[in-house]
Amino acid sequence: MKITRKNFIKASSLIAGGFLLPNTNVIAKFIASPSGFRIIRDNIGIYTERGGTIGWFISDDAVVVVDSQYEETAKNFVRGVKQKTQRNIDLLFNTHHHGDHTNGNIYLKDFTSIIAAHENCVELQKKFYGNNPDKPQAYANVTFRDEWTFDLGKEKLYAKHYCAAHTGGDAVIQFVNSNVVHMGDLVFNKTFPFIDLPGGASLNGWIEFLEKAATHFSKDTIYIFGHAASTDLLTGSQKDLYCMRDYITALLDFVSKEIKNGKTKEEVAASTEIPGVVDIKEQREGMKKMNLERAYEYLTTKQAPSF
Ligand SMILES: [Zn+2]
Repeated sequence: MKITRKNFIKASSLIAGGFLLPNTNVIAKFIASPSGFRIIRDNIGIYTERGGTIGWFISDDAVVVVDSQYEETAKNFVRGVKQKTQRNIDLLFNTHHHGDHTNGNIYLKDFTSIIAAHENCVELQKKFYGNNPDKPQAYANVTFRDEWTFDLGKEKLYAKHYCAAHTGGDAVIQFVNSNVVHMGDLVFNKTFPFIDLPGGASLNGWIEFLEKAATHFSKDTIYIFGHAASTDLLTGSQKDLYCMRDYITALLDFVSKEIKNGKTKEEVAASTEIPGVVDIKEQREGMKKMNLERAYEYLTTKQAPSF
């Protein structure tokens, strides 16, 4: 891709959303910078460069990383961490298997002895990325089914999987004392989400997961989101979980009605509006259409999920 002003603006907006796109190496090289660190609360912050938002905790007692983006960006991330602490990473947690959250594991594994994730996350990562000799993978060596806790001294981690949602192996993780929760890709804040049916996504499960998480955590919780319409929206509150839930509910309601009206997938996908949805931006052309298609497939395919 030739870097023209138009392309640069396009690339910058994609970076801001951290959205997974093929062939973004050129963009990454162009804007690669370890300057994407932002503190959220106490010793906890986020790192944004390319791919899903990395969450981090750095104290004298422990260093924890949530998600790993890509190998190249994980290097920049570690360089930034080394400027803040001499400690090695105590633990890396993967919120789910998607490559923009796990490809950096291969680099981070040399700095940590523990990689933790939901058990389905590992299976899905092996299934979708495990057979490419050009892209070696590093997998979680600590897994759990429902919930998991880990003591960090003054801080404590709590991870929870409620059900299949964005994928078949999502888990959210809370820094308990600071009350910060990384939601992985359960929230695409104010932007159309990636719906991965082969990866075990369940739209009804997604609604359930968000409601249970919003109820479990408190109004004071600060949430970190995997993707957002802009970098300032990569963190938020309980209301953002409900906004995401309301979007998926509106999408399912609309597509269900259209199916009952006898519409084909192509006709549903051509809809210009989803009733009730006003503040969701299309970060990449075609995302709304893709959401309509995936919802149609989800509602018309009576295929039992493999997880
Ligand atoms: Zn994802």
